[in-house]
Amino acid sequence: MRPYLLYSDGKGQIFEDQTLYAIGRAGWDALPVPATEWIPLPEGGNLYELPGRRAIGEDVQTGALRLCDKGWAVAAFIPPAHTGLFLAAYETEADAPTLPLFCYTAVGWKADQYWVTAVRIEKDIRQEAAGYDEEKIEAGTASLLRHYPDNRLVKHLMENCCMTYHCPAARNFALGRWECPVPSSPACNANCIGCISFQPAEESIVSTQDRLTFKPTAAEIVEFTVPHLVQAPFPIVSFGQGCEGEPLLMWETIREAIVEIRKHTPRGSLNINTNGSKPDAVKALCEAGLNSIRVSTNSAQKGLYEAYYRPNNYQFEDIVESLKVMRSFGGWSSINYFVFPGVTDSEAEYEALRKLIQDTELNMIQWRNFNIDPDWYMGKVGLQDTGDMLGVGQLMELIREEFPQVKFGYFNPPMERIKGDFSAAFAGGQY
Ligand code: SF4
Repeated sequence: MRPYLLYSDGKGQIFEDQTLYAIGRAGWDALPVPATEWIPLPEGGNLYELPGRRAIGEDVQTGALRLCDKGWAVAAFIPPAHTGLFLAAYETEADAPTLPLFCYTAVGWKADQYWVTAVRIEKDIRQEAAGYDEEKIEAGTASLLRHYPDNRLVKHLMENCCMTYHCPAARNFALGRWECPVPSSPACNANCIGCISFQPAEESIVSTQDRLTFKPTAAEIVEFTVPHLVQAPFPIVSFGQGCEGEPLLMWETIREAIVEIRKHTPRGSLNINTNGSKPDAVKALCEAGLNSIRVSTNSAQKGLYEAYYRPNNYQFEDIVESLKVMRSFGGWSSINYFVFPGVTDSEAEYEALRKLIQDTELNMIQWRNFNIDPDWYMGKVGLQDTGDMLGVGQLMELIREEFPQVKFGYFNPPMERIKGDFSAAFAGGQY
Protein backbone atom coordinates (compact mmCIF):
# COMPACT_ATOMS: atom_id res chain seq x y z
CA MET A 1 0.00 0.00 0.00
CA ARG A 2 1.30 3.52 -0.80
CA PRO A 3 0.95 6.56 1.46
CA TYR A 4 -1.95 8.91 0.74
CA LEU A 5 -1.42 12.60 0.23
CA LEU A 6 -1.91 14.97 3.17
CA TYR A 7 -3.49 18.42 3.20
CA SER A 8 -4.34 20.94 5.90
CA ASP A 9 -7.38 23.12 6.46
CA GLY A 10 -5.09 26.06 7.17
CA LYS A 11 -6.01 25.94 10.87
CA GLY A 12 -3.58 23.25 11.88
CA GLN A 13 -5.87 20.31 11.09
CA ILE A 14 -4.30 17.72 8.76
CA PHE A 15 -6.23 15.17 6.68
CA GLU A 16 -5.39 12.44 4.18
CA ASP A 17 -6.89 12.52 0.66
CA GLN A 18 -7.57 8.91 -0.33
CA THR A 19 -8.04 9.87 -3.98
CA LEU A 20 -4.35 10.81 -4.25
CA TYR A 21 -1.08 9.04 -3.43
CA ALA A 22 1.68 11.14 -1.91
CA ILE A 23 4.64 11.81 -4.22
CA GLY A 24 7.88 13.77 -3.94
CA ARG A 25 9.77 16.65 -5.49
CA ALA A 26 13.34 16.91 -6.73
CA GLY A 27 14.54 20.21 -8.16
CA TRP A 28 11.51 21.66 -9.97
CA ASP A 29 10.02 18.21 -10.75
CA ALA A 30 7.20 16.32 -9.00
CA LEU A 31 7.69 12.56 -9.25
CA PRO A 32 6.65 9.24 -7.68
CA VAL A 33 8.82 7.93 -4.80
CA PRO A 34 10.16 4.34 -4.78
CA ALA A 35 8.35 2.26 -2.12
CA THR A 36 11.72 1.50 -0.43
CA GLU A 37 12.37 5.19 0.24
CA TRP A 38 9.46 5.75 2.68
CA ILE A 39 9.97 5.29 6.43
CA PRO A 40 7.64 6.02 9.37
CA LEU A 41 8.09 9.63 10.60
CA PRO A 42 10.76 9.31 13.34
CA GLU A 43 10.08 10.58 16.86
CA GLY A 44 10.96 14.25 17.12
CA GLY A 45 9.70 15.04 13.61
CA ASN A 46 7.16 17.80 12.97
CA LEU A 47 4.50 18.50 10.33
CA TYR A 48 4.09 21.88 8.62
CA GLU A 49 1.13 23.25 6.68
CA LEU A 50 2.38 25.28 3.72
CA PRO A 51 0.25 28.41 3.16
CA GLY A 52 -0.40 29.40 -0.45
CA ARG A 53 0.69 25.99 -1.73
CA ARG A 54 -1.46 23.18 -3.26
CA ALA A 55 -0.14 19.63 -2.93
CA ILE A 56 0.56 17.56 -6.05
CA GLY A 57 -0.35 13.89 -5.87
CA GLU A 58 -0.87 10.84 -8.07
CA ASP A 59 -4.49 9.97 -8.81
CA VAL A 60 -5.24 6.59 -7.24
CA GLN A 61 -7.41 5.56 -10.19
CA THR A 62 -5.70 7.07 -13.24
CA GLY A 63 -2.10 7.48 -12.11
CA ALA A 64 -2.15 11.05 -13.43
CA LEU A 65 -0.46 13.79 -11.37
CA ARG A 66 -2.90 16.49 -10.22
CA LEU A 67 -3.39 19.15 -7.54
CA CYS A 68 -5.26 18.57 -4.29
CA ASP A 69 -7.64 21.51 -4.01
CA LYS A 70 -9.02 20.53 -0.58
CA GLY A 71 -6.48 22.59 1.38
CA TRP A 72 -2.85 23.61 1.79
CA ALA A 73 0.07 21.26 1.17
CA VAL A 74 1.82 19.58 4.10
CA ALA A 75 5.52 18.78 4.62
CA ALA A 76 7.58 17.14 7.35
CA PHE A 77 10.53 18.47 9.34
CA ILE A 78 12.50 15.29 9.92
CA PRO A 79 14.61 15.00 13.10
CA PRO A 80 18.43 15.04 13.22
CA ALA A 81 20.28 11.85 12.19
CA HIS A 82 17.86 11.43 9.24
CA THR A 83 18.37 12.71 5.67
CA GLY A 84 15.42 13.60 3.45
CA LEU A 85 15.34 11.96 0.00
CA PHE A 86 12.52 14.00 -1.60
CA LEU A 87 10.96 17.41 -0.96
CA ALA A 88 7.21 17.88 -0.54
CA ALA A 89 5.54 18.28 -3.95
CA TYR A 90 3.30 21.30 -4.36
CA GLU A 91 2.41 24.19 -6.62
CA THR A 92 3.02 27.67 -5.18
CA GLU A 93 0.47 30.44 -5.67
CA ALA A 94 1.73 33.85 -6.78
CA ASP A 95 1.22 35.62 -3.45
CA ALA A 96 2.39 32.76 -1.23
CA PRO A 97 4.69 33.83 1.63
CA THR A 98 8.33 32.66 1.68
CA LEU A 99 8.63 29.67 3.99
CA PRO A 100 10.83 29.92 7.12
CA LEU A 101 14.25 28.25 7.44
CA PHE A 102 13.21 24.65 7.98
CA CYS A 103 13.40 21.55 5.76
CA TYR A 104 10.28 20.47 3.86
CA THR A 105 10.41 16.71 3.30
CA ALA A 106 7.72 14.72 1.47
CA VAL A 107 5.19 13.09 3.85
CA GLY A 108 2.14 10.85 3.48
CA TRP A 109 -0.33 8.77 5.51
CA LYS A 110 -0.55 4.95 5.56
CA ALA A 111 -1.51 2.30 8.10
CA ASP A 112 -2.48 4.90 10.71
CA GLN A 113 0.85 6.68 10.72
CA TYR A 114 2.82 9.36 8.92
CA TRP A 115 5.51 8.24 6.44
CA VAL A 116 8.39 10.35 5.12
CA THR A 117 10.95 9.96 2.35
CA ALA A 118 14.09 9.70 4.42
CA VAL A 119 16.91 7.46 5.60
CA ARG A 120 18.56 7.19 9.01
CA ILE A 121 22.13 8.21 8.13
CA GLU A 122 23.60 8.41 11.65
CA LYS A 123 23.73 5.82 14.47
CA ASP A 124 24.73 8.32 17.14
CA ILE A 125 21.80 9.08 19.44
CA ARG A 126 23.06 12.40 20.80
CA GLN A 127 20.06 14.39 19.52
CA GLU A 128 17.29 11.79 19.97
CA ALA A 129 14.16 13.57 21.21
CA ALA A 130 13.63 10.83 23.81
CA GLY A 131 17.03 11.57 25.34
CA TYR A 132 16.17 15.02 26.66
CA ASP A 133 14.86 15.09 30.26
CA GLU A 134 13.55 18.63 30.85
CA GLU A 135 14.01 18.50 34.63
CA LYS A 136 17.62 17.35 34.32
CA ILE A 137 18.25 20.08 31.71
CA GLU A 138 16.86 22.79 34.00
CA ALA A 139 18.93 21.46 36.91
CA GLY A 140 22.04 21.33 34.74
CA THR A 141 21.40 24.86 33.49
CA ALA A 142 21.02 26.23 37.03
CA SER A 143 24.18 24.41 38.14
CA LEU A 144 26.30 25.78 35.27
CA LEU A 145 25.03 29.34 35.85
CA ARG A 146 25.91 28.96 39.56
CA HIS A 147 29.37 27.57 38.82
CA TYR A 148 30.24 30.24 36.23
CA PRO A 149 28.43 33.40 37.44
CA ASP A 150 30.67 35.82 35.51
CA ASN A 151 31.02 33.81 32.31
CA ARG A 152 29.12 35.60 29.49
CA LEU A 153 29.40 32.57 27.23
CA VAL A 154 27.87 30.15 29.75
CA LYS A 155 25.11 32.72 30.35
CA HIS A 156 24.46 32.94 26.55
CA LEU A 157 24.53 29.14 26.12
CA MET A 158 22.20 28.45 29.02
CA GLU A 159 19.73 31.34 28.88
CA ASN A 160 19.53 31.75 25.07
CA CYS A 161 20.64 28.53 23.38
CA CYS A 162 19.48 25.95 25.93
CA MET A 163 16.39 27.49 27.52
CA THR A 164 15.13 29.70 24.63
CA TYR A 165 16.22 28.14 21.33
CA HIS A 166 16.26 24.57 22.78
CA CYS A 167 19.51 23.94 20.91
CA PRO A 168 20.27 20.18 21.18
CA ALA A 169 24.02 20.82 21.60
CA ALA A 170 23.50 23.37 24.40
CA ARG A 171 21.05 20.96 26.10
CA ASN A 172 23.68 18.19 25.96
CA PHE A 173 26.17 20.60 27.56
CA ALA A 174 23.65 21.29 30.34
CA LEU A 175 23.41 17.51 30.79
CA GLY A 176 27.22 17.23 30.99
CA ARG A 177 27.58 14.93 27.99
CA TRP A 178 29.00 14.60 24.47
CA GLU A 179 29.37 17.72 22.21
CA CYS A 180 29.77 21.12 23.93
CA PRO A 181 29.01 24.14 21.70
CA VAL A 182 31.35 27.17 21.80
CA PRO A 183 30.14 30.15 19.76
CA SER A 184 32.65 33.00 19.55
CA SER A 185 32.11 35.29 16.56
CA PRO A 186 29.58 38.14 16.24
CA ALA A 187 30.67 38.71 12.60
CA CYS A 188 30.81 36.72 9.37
CA ASN A 189 32.63 37.03 6.05
CA ALA A 190 29.87 35.35 4.07
CA ASN A 191 26.26 36.41 3.28
CA CYS A 192 24.44 33.09 2.98
CA ILE A 193 20.96 33.42 1.49
CA GLY A 194 19.58 31.11 4.19
CA CYS A 195 21.72 32.32 7.08
CA ILE A 196 20.17 31.02 10.33
CA SER A 197 21.74 33.72 12.52
CA PHE A 198 21.24 36.83 10.40
CA GLN A 199 18.64 37.80 7.80
CA PRO A 200 18.72 41.26 6.13
CA ALA A 201 15.74 43.55 6.95
CA GLU A 202 14.52 43.45 3.34
CA GLU A 203 13.91 39.69 3.54
CA SER A 204 10.45 38.56 4.73
CA ILE A 205 11.81 35.61 6.71
CA VAL A 206 13.64 35.83 10.05
CA SER A 207 16.77 34.02 11.26
CA THR A 208 16.00 31.11 13.59
CA GLN A 209 18.32 32.48 16.28
CA ASP A 210 20.05 35.78 17.01
CA ARG A 211 23.78 36.17 16.47
CA LEU A 212 26.15 36.45 19.42
CA THR A 213 26.71 40.12 20.35
CA PHE A 214 30.06 39.91 22.17
CA LYS A 215 33.55 38.45 21.64
CA PRO A 216 34.32 35.92 24.38
CA THR A 217 37.82 35.76 25.82
CA ALA A 218 39.99 32.67 25.71
CA ALA A 219 39.70 32.49 29.52
CA GLU A 220 35.88 32.41 29.32
CA ILE A 221 36.10 29.53 26.79
CA VAL A 222 38.66 27.53 28.76
CA GLU A 223 36.81 27.94 32.10
CA PHE A 224 33.91 25.59 31.16
CA THR A 225 35.35 23.53 28.30
CA VAL A 226 38.17 21.93 30.33
CA PRO A 227 35.78 20.45 32.96
CA HIS A 228 33.50 19.25 30.12
CA LEU A 229 36.38 17.50 28.34
CA VAL A 230 37.57 15.90 31.57
CA GLN A 231 34.16 14.70 32.81
CA ALA A 232 31.79 14.17 29.86
CA PRO A 233 31.36 10.83 28.02
CA PHE A 234 32.59 10.96 24.38
CA PRO A 235 33.56 14.64 24.80
CA ILE A 236 33.82 17.11 21.94
CA VAL A 237 34.30 20.87 22.11
CA SER A 238 32.87 22.44 18.95
CA PHE A 239 33.71 25.98 17.92
CA GLY A 240 31.28 27.37 15.29
CA GLN A 241 27.58 27.29 16.12
CA GLY A 242 24.31 28.42 14.56
CA CYS A 243 24.07 31.40 16.91
CA GLU A 244 27.15 33.16 15.62
CA GLY A 245 28.94 34.36 12.50
CA GLU A 246 32.17 32.77 11.28
CA PRO A 247 34.50 31.40 14.04
CA LEU A 248 37.65 31.67 11.87
CA LEU A 249 37.33 35.46 12.26
CA MET A 250 38.14 34.79 15.95
CA TRP A 251 41.04 32.39 15.25
CA GLU A 252 43.54 34.12 17.55
CA THR A 253 41.18 33.77 20.55
CA ILE A 254 40.34 30.16 19.60
CA ARG A 255 44.06 29.33 19.21
CA GLU A 256 44.79 30.80 22.65
CA ALA A 257 41.94 28.72 24.10
CA ILE A 258 43.13 25.49 22.42
CA VAL A 259 46.69 25.94 23.71
CA GLU A 260 45.36 26.52 27.25
CA ILE A 261 42.86 23.62 27.09
CA ARG A 262 45.56 21.16 26.05
CA LYS A 263 47.73 22.25 29.00
CA HIS A 264 44.95 20.82 31.22
CA THR A 265 43.76 17.74 29.34
CA PRO A 266 44.51 15.67 26.22
CA ARG A 267 40.97 14.21 26.38
CA GLY A 268 38.30 14.60 23.71
CA SER A 269 38.13 16.17 20.27
CA LEU A 270 38.53 19.88 19.56
CA ASN A 271 36.42 20.59 16.48
CA ILE A 272 35.51 23.66 14.45
CA ASN A 273 32.32 24.07 12.40
CA THR A 274 33.17 26.69 9.81
CA ASN A 275 32.63 28.08 6.34
CA GLY A 276 36.30 27.19 5.75
CA SER A 277 37.12 30.63 4.35
CA LYS A 278 40.59 31.10 5.94
CA PRO A 279 42.97 28.13 5.38
CA ASP A 280 45.83 30.09 6.97
CA ALA A 281 43.84 30.39 10.21
CA VAL A 282 43.00 26.68 10.01
CA LYS A 283 46.76 25.97 9.76
CA ALA A 284 47.45 28.02 12.89
CA LEU A 285 44.66 26.20 14.78
CA CYS A 286 45.93 22.79 13.67
CA GLU A 287 49.42 23.72 14.91
CA ALA A 288 47.80 24.62 18.26
CA GLY A 289 46.00 21.27 18.50
CA LEU A 290 42.71 21.44 16.60
CA ASN A 291 41.60 17.82 15.90
CA SER A 292 38.71 18.12 13.48
CA ILE A 293 37.03 20.46 11.02
CA ARG A 294 33.54 20.51 9.52
CA VAL A 295 33.15 22.80 6.51
CA SER A 296 29.58 23.72 5.62
CA THR A 297 28.56 23.84 1.97
CA ASN A 298 25.47 23.76 -0.22
CA SER A 299 27.51 22.47 -3.16
CA ALA A 300 30.84 21.08 -4.36
CA GLN A 301 30.51 23.32 -7.42
CA LYS A 302 32.23 26.76 -7.28
CA GLY A 303 29.42 28.64 -9.05
CA LEU A 304 26.56 27.25 -6.97
CA TYR A 305 28.58 27.63 -3.76
CA GLU A 306 29.41 31.29 -4.38
CA ALA A 307 25.86 32.08 -5.56
CA TYR A 308 24.59 30.90 -2.15
CA TYR A 309 27.39 31.95 0.24
CA ARG A 310 28.04 35.31 -1.45
CA PRO A 311 31.53 35.37 0.16
CA ASN A 312 33.47 38.53 1.18
CA ASN A 313 37.16 38.28 0.26
CA TYR A 314 37.34 34.54 -0.10
CA GLN A 315 36.33 32.00 -2.70
CA PHE A 316 35.39 28.34 -3.09
CA GLU A 317 39.01 27.28 -3.53
CA ASP A 318 39.73 28.50 0.03
CA ILE A 319 37.26 26.08 1.60
CA VAL A 320 38.84 23.23 -0.37
CA GLU A 321 42.25 24.33 0.89
CA SER A 322 41.00 24.38 4.51
CA LEU A 323 39.93 20.74 4.22
CA LYS A 324 43.33 19.84 2.78
CA VAL A 325 45.16 21.67 5.57
CA MET A 326 43.35 19.66 8.26
CA ARG A 327 44.23 16.39 6.51
CA SER A 328 47.84 17.48 6.15
CA PHE A 329 47.99 17.58 9.97
CA GLY A 330 46.38 14.11 10.18
CA GLY A 331 43.16 15.60 11.53
CA TRP A 332 39.56 14.65 10.76
CA SER A 333 37.70 16.46 8.00
CA SER A 334 33.97 16.52 7.28
CA ILE A 335 31.66 18.49 5.04
CA ASN A 336 28.33 19.68 6.44
CA TYR A 337 26.57 18.95 3.14
CA PHE A 338 23.22 20.70 2.69
CA VAL A 339 21.17 18.08 0.84
CA PHE A 340 18.64 19.47 -1.66
CA PRO A 341 16.91 16.68 -3.68
CA GLY A 342 17.26 17.33 -7.38
CA VAL A 343 20.33 19.53 -6.93
CA THR A 344 22.66 17.53 -4.66
CA ASP A 345 21.99 14.42 -6.75
CA SER A 346 22.37 16.14 -10.12
CA GLU A 347 25.01 14.70 -12.46
CA ALA A 348 27.07 17.91 -12.27
CA GLU A 349 27.03 17.92 -8.46
CA TYR A 350 27.91 14.22 -8.30
CA GLU A 351 31.01 14.74 -10.43
CA ALA A 352 32.02 17.78 -8.38
CA LEU A 353 31.56 15.88 -5.11
CA ARG A 354 33.72 12.99 -6.39
CA LYS A 355 36.47 15.51 -7.24
CA LEU A 356 36.18 17.23 -3.82
CA ILE A 357 36.53 13.87 -2.01
CA GLN A 358 39.56 12.91 -4.12
CA ASP A 359 41.26 16.32 -3.88
CA THR A 360 40.83 16.69 -0.11
CA GLU A 361 41.06 13.07 1.15
CA LEU A 362 37.81 13.83 2.92
CA ASN A 363 36.97 11.64 5.94
CA MET A 364 33.25 12.20 6.32
CA ILE A 365 30.08 13.54 4.70
CA GLN A 366 27.43 14.80 7.11
CA TRP A 367 24.30 14.57 4.92
CA ARG A 368 22.30 17.45 6.35
CA ASN A 369 18.81 18.55 5.38
CA PHE A 370 18.82 21.98 3.75
CA ASN A 371 16.62 24.21 5.90
CA ILE A 372 15.30 26.58 3.27
CA ASP A 373 12.20 27.35 1.15
CA PRO A 374 12.87 25.27 -2.00
CA ASP A 375 11.40 27.75 -4.52
CA TRP A 376 13.12 30.68 -2.80
CA TYR A 377 16.51 28.94 -2.83
CA MET A 378 16.37 27.82 -6.46
CA GLY A 379 15.18 31.24 -7.52
CA LYS A 380 17.88 33.08 -5.59
CA VAL A 381 20.77 30.97 -6.92
CA GLY A 382 19.35 31.02 -10.45
CA LEU A 383 18.68 27.29 -10.84
CA GLN A 384 16.29 26.93 -13.78
CA ASP A 385 17.14 23.42 -14.90
CA THR A 386 18.95 20.93 -12.66
CA GLY A 387 19.59 18.41 -15.43
CA ASP A 388 19.53 14.64 -14.90
CA MET A 389 19.05 13.48 -11.34
CA LEU A 390 20.40 10.31 -9.76
CA GLY A 391 18.15 10.30 -6.67
CA VAL A 392 19.69 11.12 -3.26
CA GLY A 393 19.55 7.48 -2.20
CA GLN A 394 21.34 6.41 -5.40
CA LEU A 395 23.93 9.17 -4.98
CA MET A 396 24.74 7.90 -1.48
CA GLU A 397 25.17 4.35 -2.81
CA LEU A 398 27.50 5.48 -5.61
CA ILE A 399 29.69 7.48 -3.21
CA ARG A 400 29.71 4.61 -0.69
CA GLU A 401 30.83 2.13 -3.39
CA GLU A 402 33.55 4.33 -4.90
CA PHE A 403 34.84 5.78 -1.59
CA PRO A 404 34.32 3.11 1.11
CA GLN A 405 36.74 4.99 3.39
CA VAL A 406 34.43 8.02 3.52
CA LYS A 407 32.14 7.87 6.55
CA PHE A 408 28.50 8.92 6.39
CA GLY A 409 26.73 10.59 9.28
CA TYR A 410 25.06 13.67 10.68
CA PHE A 411 27.20 14.65 13.67
CA ASN A 412 30.87 15.40 14.42
CA PRO A 413 32.40 12.15 15.69
CA PRO A 414 34.05 11.92 19.12
CA MET A 415 37.71 10.90 19.33
CA GLU A 416 36.58 7.38 20.27
CA ARG A 417 35.04 7.04 16.77
CA ILE A 418 37.83 8.93 14.97
CA LYS A 419 40.57 6.77 16.51
CA GLY A 420 38.49 3.65 17.17
CA ASP A 421 36.08 1.43 15.22
CA PHE A 422 33.91 4.12 13.59
CA SER A 423 30.88 1.87 13.24
CA ALA A 424 31.00 0.65 16.85
CA ALA A 425 32.10 3.38 19.20
CA PHE A 426 29.22 5.82 19.24
CA ALA A 427 27.51 7.55 22.12
CA GLY A 428 27.06 4.25 23.90
CA GLY A 429 23.43 3.81 22.83
CA GLN A 430 22.11 5.06 26.17
CA TYR A 431 21.29 8.52 27.40
S1 SF4 B 1 28.68 31.25 7.04
FE1 SF4 B 1 27.18 30.85 8.69
S2 SF4 B 1 27.00 32.73 9.86
FE2 SF4 B 1 28.04 33.22 7.90
S3 SF4 B 1 26.38 33.92 6.56
FE3 SF4 B 1 26.67 31.72 6.22
S4 SF4 B 1 25.21 30.69 7.63
FE4 SF4 B 1 25.45 32.81 8.29
